[in-house]
Amino acid sequence: MNMNKINSVNSNLFFDTKLDFTYFKYIKFCQALIDSGLKILTLKDYLSMNELPEKFAIIRHDIDDESDLAYAMKMAEAEYELGFKTTYYFRSNEKVFNVDYIKRISGFGHEIGYHYEVLGEADGDFEEAIKLFESNLDKFRKICEIKTIAQHGGPLKNGLNVISFSNVLEIIMQTLRGQRIFDNWESKELWKRYDFKTYGIIGEPYLSLNFDEIMYLSDTNRSWVDTRYRIKDKIQSRRAIGVYNIKCTEDIIQELKSGRLRKVHILIHPSNWKDNFSDWTKWLLLQQIRTIGKRVLIIFWKAKLNS
Ligand SMILES: [Zn+2]
Repeated sequence: MNMNKINSVNSNLFFDTKLDFTYFKYIKFCQALIDSGLKILTLKDYLSMNELPEKFAIIRHDIDDESDLAYAMKMAEAEYELGFKTTYYFRSNEKVFNVDYIKRISGFGHEIGYHYEVLGEADGDFEEAIKLFESNLDKFRKICEIKTIAQHGGPLKNGLNVISFSNVLEIIMQTLRGQRIFDNWESKELWKRYDFKTYGIIGEPYLSLNFDEIMYLSDTNRSWVDTRYRIKDKIQSRRAIGVYNIKCTEDIIQELKSGRLRKVHILIHPSNWKDNFSDWTKWLLLQQIRTIGKRVLIIFWKAKLNS
């Protein structure tokens, strides 16, 4: 096995061993996952299997912005070298929809899916949204097979995301220009009126997985537990995180070792797992800005609902 990619992680001891959400930690988590004997599945695998394995992990990556691309490539190659396949959901905006990356990640054998947000893009117009969905799906299918889709849950549209300080400036500028930058739609609502099966799609994690049976874990906001500022990707599940006492990635590794985790869906945003200390710290600073922004947004929406 060629371990080049796997070993090419930052070798700073403090960074590697003391901090969470580092690329090093992700590889350690992957190794624990393999050792646990859980069958690692893509969403397409899970939905098309006649008989499901007794214990499994569905690993899903959401490619939300351009900062995810390079990390996604690195993870895709490492996962390939480690011998398993996962699903990579790409948004369709020009910053993320990168033909070369999609081709190369798919070339490692991973599943590619469409991370859609059409209801927000169409400002809640269902007819317009389904047309957008169809044309974006065609765009993907010119490159590779698409069998599953996953709703994007971020609160900003126009491909905006708080990933750099120049992005924060862009958000402020667009707001000042009076542009509508917030997406307060749940695009999966589209499937109350239309059927994704018509488009050759076999499933959507938020609609096709039973989270009463499958544990939902997500690294959103570089935290496994903090769901306070998650706006759309909250999962009401009886298999609440508290049952497992998971606070950090090391806790998940321990749960995997103990054999208690048996059926799990894990959402990984590639750029949350930094491979150097300066990017790791910069992320923390931007996260503070994001948290304040989301807090303001929640207050704004609550006020709107009560008015
Ligand atoms: Zn997303």
